[in-house]
Amino acid sequence: MSVLDLARPEIRTLQPYSSARMEAEGAQIMLNANESAWPPAGDAGLGCNRYPDPQPGGLLQALATLYGVRSEQLFVGRGSDEAIDLLVRAFCGAGQDAILIQPPTFGMYAVCARIQNANIVEVPLADDFSLDIERLVGAVTPAVKLVFLCTPNNPSGKSIARTDIEYLAKALVGRAVLVVDEAYIEFSDQQSAVDLINTYDHVAVLRTLSKAWALAGARIGSLLASPDVIALIRRIMPPYPLPLPCVSAAMSELSASGQAAARDNIAIVREQREIMRAALARLSGIREVLPSDANFLAVRFDDAGTVYQRLLKAGIVVRDIRRYPNLKDALRITIGTPEENARVLTVLGGEKP
Ligand SMILES: *Cc1c(COP(=O)(O)O)cnc(C)c1O
Repeated sequence: MSVLDLARPEIRTLQPYSSARMEAEGAQIMLNANESAWPPAGDAGLGCNRYPDPQPGGLLQALATLYGVRSEQLFVGRGSDEAIDLLVRAFCGAGQDAILIQPPTFGMYAVCARIQNANIVEVPLADDFSLDIERLVGAVTPAVKLVFLCTPNNPSGKSIARTDIEYLAKALVGRAVLVVDEAYIEFSDQQSAVDLINTYDHVAVLRTLSKAWALAGARIGSLLASPDVIALIRRIMPPYPLPLPCVSAAMSELSASGQAAARDNIAIVREQREIMRAALARLSGIREVLPSDANFLAVRFDDAGTVYQRLLKAGIVVRDIRRYPNLKDALRITIGTPEENARVLTVLGGEKP
């Protein structure tokens, strides 16, 4: 059995759009795409008068090296959000198939499923935000085509143990695609699940340049999976998902000096996370600071609504996560610069008696 047997049959046989850029490799005079022959003002050599390569070779290679995969195991799109959307569209037939998620977790899995009219099977996390593996496996009905795991999880910050991910990969063979979202893994000590894609064609990993790599504004995210899944996703991607200025920004960040700077910032975030965790835990009005492997802390307050407003009045916006199950008293605070973090502590004030 191939993982493609889990995909929508009409997507497997779809004749993809053949873009002008794909058909015109290496030509000197390009008159096939109705582009302007002249670069725009301020182009700085980018060549923005031309449509971009849908999957630029240089960027694919740089990301493949960064993540330790081959470029045919990698799709790059407009953030991992786009990869989530394309996975749901490729694998979930509207009104019949389903995804499985574990609330409280990242909201886009459910949003993409609703847009596709796929059902959502929920297996809530335990009170300590750990996975109930046996319940999860038991909830995988034949309709479930995608199981999303978020590690470290947003918004709890907790990681899923490698042994659990491997157990699930084995348990889901021939049943569903296991999608491991590692948006925050650079901030954790966890090993990536990416090596599993060499063993299992139904395991996929999501990575992004939006968090640790400082490129949220460029919208560059990757799906790492078997060449079969990647080829399927490329059949349904938009014709030109990656704007040239964004590709250029990503290539700069992935240069040796760009990577060194990003790694310095990751080290600062990890250090600040522990400083903030300890300092927040000492403040009055704070019930609990959840341990986090990511670049944020979920914090329980006696009165989260009032704290949210007090921070807002001081010009600091944090994420109100009280709508999530099991986090009805919590705010999510991103780790900023040391100065920004100190400001948060000052505004929250007052140590416990
Ligand atoms: C931020 C985030 C993403 C989205 O990343 P983009 O690459 O910017 O689309 C994906 N998953 C999780 C869990 C996130 O928190």
